[in-house]
Amino acid sequence: MDVLPKFAYFNGRIVPYAEAKVGVLTMALNYGTACFGGLRGYWNEAEEQLFVFRPLDHFKRFLNSAKILQMDLGLSAAQLVDITLEVLRAEGQRQDVYIRPLAYQADEGIGVRLHDVHSALSIVAIPFGLYMTDCGAHVTFSSWRRVDDNAIPPRGKISGAYVNSAFIKTDAHHGGYDEALVLNQDGHISEGSAANFFMLRDGVISTPSVTDNSLEGITRRSLLRLLREDLGMSVVERPIDRSEVYVADEAWFCGTGVQVSPIIKVDHRPIGTGECGPFVSKLRELFFDVVRGKVAKYREWCVPVYAK
Ligand code: PMP
Repeated sequence: MDVLPKFAYFNGRIVPYAEAKVGVLTMALNYGTACFGGLRGYWNEAEEQLFVFRPLDHFKRFLNSAKILQMDLGLSAAQLVDITLEVLRAEGQRQDVYIRPLAYQADEGIGVRLHDVHSALSIVAIPFGLYMTDCGAHVTFSSWRRVDDNAIPPRGKISGAYVNSAFIKTDAHHGGYDEALVLNQDGHISEGSAANFFMLRDGVISTPSVTDNSLEGITRRSLLRLLREDLGMSVVERPIDRSEVYVADEAWFCGTGVQVSPIIKVDHRPIGTGECGPFVSKLRELFFDVVRGKVAKYREWCVPVYAK
């Protein structure tokens, strides 16, 4: 079990975590009618500072997820960032953290719908290290299909859609794999259970486009800039076939949780040499410098928590 937070933002104020409780008839709990975010705070030892990575962009997406669910939180993305910083100051962590905002249908009652329901907001933060092995994952293709935009839009982080992710993740686990790639309805790669996907082949990087039923990932968007502007790579956003991954030179997942996680084997076929490739190693190094606020060009992505 994860470490629990000390505090939660709940019903408009910061309370001890134990007081942040909902009843079993809460609509979101029964129907999955909620949306969430996932942000990281990175501890920079030299500066003794905790930096939250791209919080404004995370909360813009969070509000878009809420909009898809016709929830009005009455707060701007900037206000959500401020609340998050308050929660983090209350927690007072001097280590890497994970931040989980949740907007949920808070009424208790029967009757699935989006209209005429009150929504509520909670935000918590917990210490958090690695989410996935960083020495290379063995991945399979899931027998599940990615939830479709015309069923539950995967472009937002809608809680109910994560049943799909849970199917994908647990089947991979039971099959002895670290993760799975999931195909969309037309048979092209969408993403992992909770991460976007990139591959490198013959000097060109490819990633599924945001219309392939993948989440509009903030890490994905960040990597697109690093790859193009700083590593001088050409990156194509396009439909990717399953067998292209089998013959890729390198491949990796990216996301707030997994950060940049190399894939070294797919369905028992080695990717490249079957070890963490030189390109993704370089990318990881740059990424970790960026998120800890060590790269001047991207310093604005890193929002400090503590006053200096
Ligand atoms: N896809 C899915 C399904 C996810 O849950 C996540 C994690 N939020 C990602 C991709 C990566 O998105 P981000 O980089 O914004 O964390």
